[in-house]
Amino acid sequence: MKHGGGELHRAWPFDEKPLLVFWETTKACMLACKHCRASAILEPLPGELSHEEAMKLLDDLAGFGKPLPILVFTGGDPLMRKDIWQLVARAKELGFRVALAPAVSPLLNDDAIRKMLDYGVDGVSISIDGARPETHDGIRGIPGVFKRSLEVVRKMIDVGLRVQVNTAVMRDNVLELPDMVKMLKDLGVTTWEVFYLIPVGRAQRELDLTPEEWEDVSHFLYEASKYGIVVRTTEGPMFRRVAVVRRLLELNGIEPDTVLETGALYRKLVGRLRELLGEPMGKPLASTTGTRDGKGIIFISHDGIVYPSGFMPYPVGSVRTQSIVSIYRNNVLLKKIRAAEFNGRCGVCEFRDICGGSRARAYILGGDPLGEDPACLYVPGGFSRLLEKYRLDVERAVREIRGLRYVLPVSRSNRDNAC
Ligand code: SF4
Repeated sequence: MKHGGGELHRAWPFDEKPLLVFWETTKACMLACKHCRASAILEPLPGELSHEEAMKLLDDLAGFGKPLPILVFTGGDPLMRKDIWQLVARAKELGFRVALAPAVSPLLNDDAIRKMLDYGVDGVSISIDGARPETHDGIRGIPGVFKRSLEVVRKMIDVGLRVQVNTAVMRDNVLELPDMVKMLKDLGVTTWEVFYLIPVGRAQRELDLTPEEWEDVSHFLYEASKYGIVVRTTEGPMFRRVAVVRRLLELNGIEPDTVLETGALYRKLVGRLRELLGEPMGKPLASTTGTRDGKGIIFISHDGIVYPSGFMPYPVGSVRTQSIVSIYRNNVLLKKIRAAEFNGRCGVCEFRDICGGSRARAYILGGDPLGEDPACLYVPGGFSRLLEKYRLDVERAVREIRGLRYVLPVSRSNRDNAC
């Protein structure tokens, strides 16, 4: 789902309210994806918020005030929750923009799609983790789910639903990214949310990319966004640094690839992209909105425990005992995250405001929720040297590159007034 207009983002009061609330309405799901859990969970887990508690939570969420955050019903599979349509109806009545993140299970049928339209669901996200059936089905552990996912996406777009595709990038599928761009274009998908894998457990470490490779993926995604697809990242905020730098160079008439160091993976991915789609068609649509776990984003689990994001197992409260508004605004860790008070490189980085690193990765891999993001190879200070070396004109560029003003000390005083 799109995050709304650019003007909204620029003015969004991140200290007061999240832009996106992810609510894991249930853990129940008919599927048994490898990376998620070993077996399907057909019944709600003990402790799941009851219908009454869920309705109360919606009222509490409305306490953030207008404009309200976008409410994303996730799971498990939100369609497994028996009162899901009542929750959607109440959320719409309260004025939320509502998105659904359903599993591609037999429940996602024509009836469910019709209900999404009838209830005014504003967006739907579908996960597709590869451009080939073997890849996606292998990652999901379910034969045939790739084909079915494509069918569902086509059907939803045909009936007028706004569909976003989510892709978790890992070693198994990274080389298919260019083919995915073509696939999304063929499907008519215009928003792509790319998840940078956070390896949890030993098995997943083998699927992780190196910092150099994540850097290459970020450069590639920026180029991919020139083909009419809005590209956003989850747990890969360094993408925004790359997007800002590449665009600044372009606006100064410098081809980024002649100046920036990229690796073999980037060249391979971009080479394949050009082979499939030719030269870029338009301006980059790379999102540089400065949200991160706990800043603009909050996650409520099935049992009401609140986390900075769905990838960060660091509880910051419970909606059963506190209001969600109070948790978001007053939790000490969340306040530090929003103030970009980080340790290590992220703490002294010019990009800490619009990037700030993945808090989930810093916590899971380094044990410090405010630590530096080990997937980023950037050495703070490099941007200033780039500005000086190429005498880059930032004052004109700042009008186009939304995130730039949060990077430049010269523009910080103007940040609230700037366009
Ligand atoms: S050092 Fe941290 S804040 Fe800076 S670009 Fe890397 S991840 Fe982002």
